[in-house]
Amino acid sequence: MAHKKKAGTAGRYGPRYGRKIRYKVRTVEKAQRGKQECPNCGKHKIKRLAQGIFECRGCGAKITGNAYTIK
Ligand SMILES: [Zn+2]
Repeated sequence: MAHKKKAGTAGRYGPRYGRKIRYKVRTVEKAQRGKQECPNCGKHKIKRLAQGIFECRGCGAKITGNAYTIK
């Protein structure tokens, strides 16, 4: 049996870029994909509009954050 890496979403990069950077990509992409909590209404309905801009689909609040997450 071939050894299967637990690479998550960063697995598409294969063995390139080194282990650390792929781990970082996976962490970031996981945060980006998951629902984030709105600081205004507390609902997990944050949608990422653009880099650093997020919108809550619950209350409509626009939130600025860092590039991929609001925390
Ligand atoms: Zn909200």
